[in-house]
Amino acid sequence: MLSISLIIFNLFTFSLANGDEIQNTIDGPYLFKTEEGIVGKWVEDSTLFQEIITADNYPKLQSKFNFKFGFEALTQDFSSQIDYVQENEGIDSLVAFSDIHGQYDLYIELLKANGIIDNDLNWSYGSGHMVIVGDIFDRGDKVTEVLWHVFGLEQQAEKAGGKVHLVLGNHEVMVLNNDLRYIHDKYKTTETLTSTTYDQLYADNTVLGQWLRSKPVAIKINDMIFAHGGLSPTLVNNDVSIEKINKTFADQILGRDRASILSDEFLELLYRSNGPVWYRGYFYDDNFTEQSIDSVLNYYDANHAIVGHCSYDSVITRFNNKIFGVDTSIKRGENGEVLKWNSGGYFKGTLSGEVKALPKATAFP
Ligand code: ZN
Repeated sequence: MLSISLIIFNLFTFSLANGDEIQNTIDGPYLFKTEEGIVGKWVEDSTLFQEIITADNYPKLQSKFNFKFGFEALTQDFSSQIDYVQENEGIDSLVAFSDIHGQYDLYIELLKANGIIDNDLNWSYGSGHMVIVGDIFDRGDKVTEVLWHVFGLEQQAEKAGGKVHLVLGNHEVMVLNNDLRYIHDKYKTTETLTSTTYDQLYADNTVLGQWLRSKPVAIKINDMIFAHGGLSPTLVNNDVSIEKINKTFADQILGRDRASILSDEFLELLYRSNGPVWYRGYFYDDNFTEQSIDSVLNYYDANHAIVGHCSYDSVITRFNNKIFGVDTSIKRGENGEVLKWNSGGYFKGTLSGEVKALPKATAFP
């Protein structure tokens, strides 16, 4: 099986015309925490490489993958430092966007254009907070690159007094729960070469898998609440706090068997279309009114709800900036925007670095 796939993928590599695409044949590293230490696996030119990663040989890996963090970042126990409550107060500036779906190059351009990172891809946003409102995984072919960059940026932001928030989307949940319908063909090659299913490349004994499992599904920053799909009136009616959402996802949903999730009424509520990662009612439900969003914001003691998951060409707003949609179709690999907030108000930042005011009454498409 392995030798057949090697032949096929060598042919594939050979037929590619330009350097960019050949670069796509590099994937990884996938780092497994084992009793022998951190076992690193990566794929390069259709060949699997495997090595125990130590502080001594880490610099080689670090330069190969342009990592912006030291070896010690990989040895942290993320599962012991989970913040379920996710109350962030007194933040002075913020940028939010979502639905990157493996479009690493566009993601980098967008962050550079908006002063979040410098030309060397390092954090340059000082004490600001950056929120990725879900869906790094699936569709595109540079998911691994985005994840490792966000992983490193989080370390750098922390040191600068800022913060990176990764809020999990439905595609993070799908991959961790072994629903692999949307992975790019490139990752099927990685599965074959590593003899590991894609979800197991992010198992809870991997660095990124453990890190992802420590991430929230809903957060609050100042008077803003964030969730990939959104916090629905149904959650309010069931008295489901942000802390309860995050704890339930971490303890009972992420990486769990679908059948066992669906056998529990409360887990099913969180997992399905009225839950925080799949909900689309802010935009798609004709019965969703200003009163609906008021009840949600009132319950979570907030003034604004910021979500991804429903794709538009631009940052959009509803109900006088009570709702912001920040999925600007980065997944198409062509264009994207970020929502920016500071004491001056709400703005959108474009790929060319323009900052445009978001008038309160922006029309809903
Ligand atoms: Zn989504």
